Amino acid sequence: MKLFIAAIGTETNTFSPIPTGWAAYREDLFVRRDGSLTSPHWFAGPLRVWRRAAESGGHEVIESVAAFAQPAGPTRARVWAEMRQMVLDDLDAAGTPDMVLLNLHGAMVAEGEDDCEGDLASAIRARLPGVVIGVELDLHCHISDRLVAAADIVVTYKEYPHTDVDARAADVYRLAAATRSGAIRPAVAVIDCRMLAVWRTPREPVRSLVDAMSAAEGQGGVLSVSFAHGFPWADVPDVGARVIAIADGDPALADRTARAFQQRIWDLRFKTRDTLLTLNDAIGRTLAPEPGLTIFADVCDNAGAGTSSDATFLLSALVEARARNVLTGLFWDPVAVRLCFEAGEGSRLPLRIGGKVGPFSGQPVDLDVTVRALAPEASQTYGTGRQAMGDAALVSADGIDVALISLRTQTFHPDAFAALGADIRAYRSVYVKSAQHFSAGFAPVAERILYVSAGGAADPDFERIALPRAGRPLWPLVEDPFAGN
Ligand SMILES: [Zn+2]
Repeated sequence: MKLFIAAIGTETNTFSPIPTGWAAYREDLFVRRDGSLTSPHWFAGPLRVWRRAAESGGHEVIESVAAFAQPAGPTRARVWAEMRQMVLDDLDAAGTPDMVLLNLHGAMVAEGEDDCEGDLASAIRARLPGVVIGVELDLHCHISDRLVAAADIVVTYKEYPHTDVDARAADVYRLAAATRSGAIRPAVAVIDCRMLAVWRTPREPVRSLVDAMSAAEGQGGVLSVSFAHGFPWADVPDVGARVIAIADGDPALADRTARAFQQRIWDLRFKTRDTLLTLNDAIGRTLAPEPGLTIFADVCDNAGAGTSSDATFLLSALVEARARNVLTGLFWDPVAVRLCFEAGEGSRLPLRIGGKVGPFSGQPVDLDVTVRALAPEASQTYGTGRQAMGDAALVSADGIDVALISLRTQTFHPDAFAALGADIRAYRSVYVKSAQHFSAGFAPVAERILYVSAGGAADPDFERIALPRAGRPLWPLVEDPFAGN
């Protein structure tokens, strides 16, 4: 058996002012061939899983592009055209593979192409009408008809934080291989939830929902159930949550299964809705801290949703309120990092922090800081892989410690701060720029986690979001998106 694999991902926030070009891929993950053998990047994880599975079965593996860019604005048209062509060229050179497995994000938008995943999968399908195509997606994806028509198997992550990237890759391999051998005949159904929301899977009642999805798999002909949460900060026609069910040879069962989960998700909508603190609430709770460590998540400025990670709304309020014993980060500010490295550890200097990329960043904050620590080419844990942070600096000013990085990324893990000698347990309040992924590493250490809405390019107040291209009513923009249909 000849297996062809590739991975291309980014999550496009169409409201982000940050363009995504070649540099964004090259500095995060771009390997032309065989990246699974050379890169520890988490997005190459499925390639590693697929390669291991195939090679242990004595099969041949042909690996094309492995690419990931930190979420931001749309990928430049030329970059998408070139990357797409690399995969197709490799496919043509591979002859006729028996199986094609793609690790894609699902919310990648390029200039002139709203649905990069559907574009790539349908181009492969056109070349190889009989091949088995399996696709793994982030659950923050847009599911297009074109993608589902092109692929035999579509599976999304189940967990947010995404702790099951490699486990879902194993599912894709197993189902695709069984399809190829004729052991199963996958029928795929997709039901549109017509919802915009954030679902946190460690918390009830979402936890039980995800467990029920897993429990349904393997029962009575149901092969796979995915809940694609969607990625709301994208004004594209396929924006919004969907349920995907795959049943063995039974389209009606797939449809019934997907509809049942869609109904359950809809019925839970008020219970699964986020409780967010306002900026003033967050500052108040920082000034009068409860016992133990509190993590405040700056959800609106999450680089993982394409924001600048240099928004200062919370930092400037903390400074103004004279908050103490606070650690905050990661601020993407390559200029400030450069000044800190030039000044050296232990030095004092006036430093202008953040507020640079666009209106969602707020105003820069000027502080007299001491440079506490410098870490060249730092990285942090994400899942089973590493996420680079570029050069990093920790600066202190009157009881507020700020972690600065030169390569934009959200705060995934406490070891991002530990790389700078900062132990989060030494603080009462830690502010992280992340919406949910941080919780995998921070929850075991924290007494409580609070989510704060303080401004930025990933504002989770979906009643205000403008999505004129969505093409259908979506909750909570309307109370009942199914009224009249
Ligand atoms: Zn995601």
